[in-house]
Amino acid sequence: MRRVTIFGATGSIGQNTLDLIGRDRDAYQVVALTGDQNIAQLAGDAIAFGAEIAITADPARLDDLRAALDGSGVEAAAGPAALIEAANRPADWVMSSIVGAAGLAPGLRALEQGASLALANKESMVCAGPLMLSTAKAYGASILPVDSEHSAVFQALIGEDISAVERVIITASGGAFRDWPLEDLANATPEQAATHPNWDMGQRITIDSASMFNKALELIETKEFFQINPAKIEAVVHPESMIHALVGFRDGALMAHVGPPDMRHAIGFALHYPERKFLPVERLDLVKLGQLTFRPADETRWPALRLAREVMATGGLAGACFNAAKERALDGFIAKRIGFQQIAVVVEEVLSRVSAHPGHIDAAITLDNVMQLDHLARVRADEIMNELEG
Ligand code: NAD
Ligand code: MG
Repeated sequence: MRRVTIFGATGSIGQNTLDLIGRDRDAYQVVALTGDQNIAQLAGDAIAFGAEIAITADPARLDDLRAALDGSGVEAAAGPAALIEAANRPADWVMSSIVGAAGLAPGLRALEQGASLALANKESMVCAGPLMLSTAKAYGASILPVDSEHSAVFQALIGEDISAVERVIITASGGAFRDWPLEDLANATPEQAATHPNWDMGQRITIDSASMFNKALELIETKEFFQINPAKIEAVVHPESMIHALVGFRDGALMAHVGPPDMRHAIGFALHYPERKFLPVERLDLVKLGQLTFRPADETRWPALRLAREVMATGGLAGACFNAAKERALDGFIAKRIGFQQIAVVVEEVLSRVSAHPGHIDAAITLDNVMQLDHLARVRADEIMNELEG
């Protein structure tokens, strides 16, 4: 039996992962499941899957979790330290699907245990790509991409020489507002932004899709994961979300990964890698599909894409700063403190203020430095949002 742990088990990726594991229960021993506020889901899944331990990220919910697990034999724990402790428990395969920079530390610890880390948490690569790769190398662990675009690139690169890659194109659906007139974006609400045309995902990544901050994070993730020159990485809007990414080689060949938008493909690929096993995803009928369309990813409409280029050019801890500023600005947008288009304004201003002081962005990429800069960027984002409100 393979020992598996899921960080962020109650979320969209976590639930899809449990769906796959649940179809072949005898093959897996579930070690730890983690969640946050949804205690009923966490406890219910931990009991149903016979997990050793269930952990909520929120210490204030420990009593609720204990009560929900009472008599089941599943251990209960809470808080960030308990998440790290869970990552210490030996597991063969660990899903990293917490949302946000909070996913970084548990994923790193799982790598230090030599696990295969299925990485949905793109923030880990954006905030600390070099640290993730060097930790995996030092401990003989592996990182498998779960973001659909990066899984697609990974699959297109199997058997290929990375030096023959001329370009990588990742696709974007364009999110909720891709067909809105530009002048209407100022009044877009969080409710409107949280509906996705194609993918069924968590609230935060869905809003990030509308603002293209999700694609911005993914451009950076592509650079970090595959160690590719940013000049070779492009994004293109593809409203049908059937092609997830394309890799172009120096002989002009372009390899595309095509499939319906269902995260169980990328999760299942990472779960079974290096084997390819049956997955319960829809098979495409190309004739029924008829056509696929593409549009430019306009940096005026989506300034996040321009900011991602700047972050890639700067390097160092710019990604950690960018991500934290985005997370805080997104909180501000969800709380209706700032408007939709101000998310990018806040992020750009945080980058500019933090970069103005030497010793922040150019500090060594260690977990401590990432978390310190993450904190600083959030403080700056709050300051800027206060200024915008006042
Ligand atoms: P989600 O909001 O549905 O779930 C997030 C999970 O993280 C939940 O289990 C929640 O309890 C947990 N969590 C939230 N805050 C936490 C904290 N501070 N500490 C610890 N745990 C916390 O999100 P999702 O859509 O499943 O996305 C998860 C990750 O996967 C994100 O990094 C996202 O960008 C990435 N991703 C998601 C999809 C998708 O289809 N949903 C696709 C590609 C990549
Ligand atoms: Mg993606």
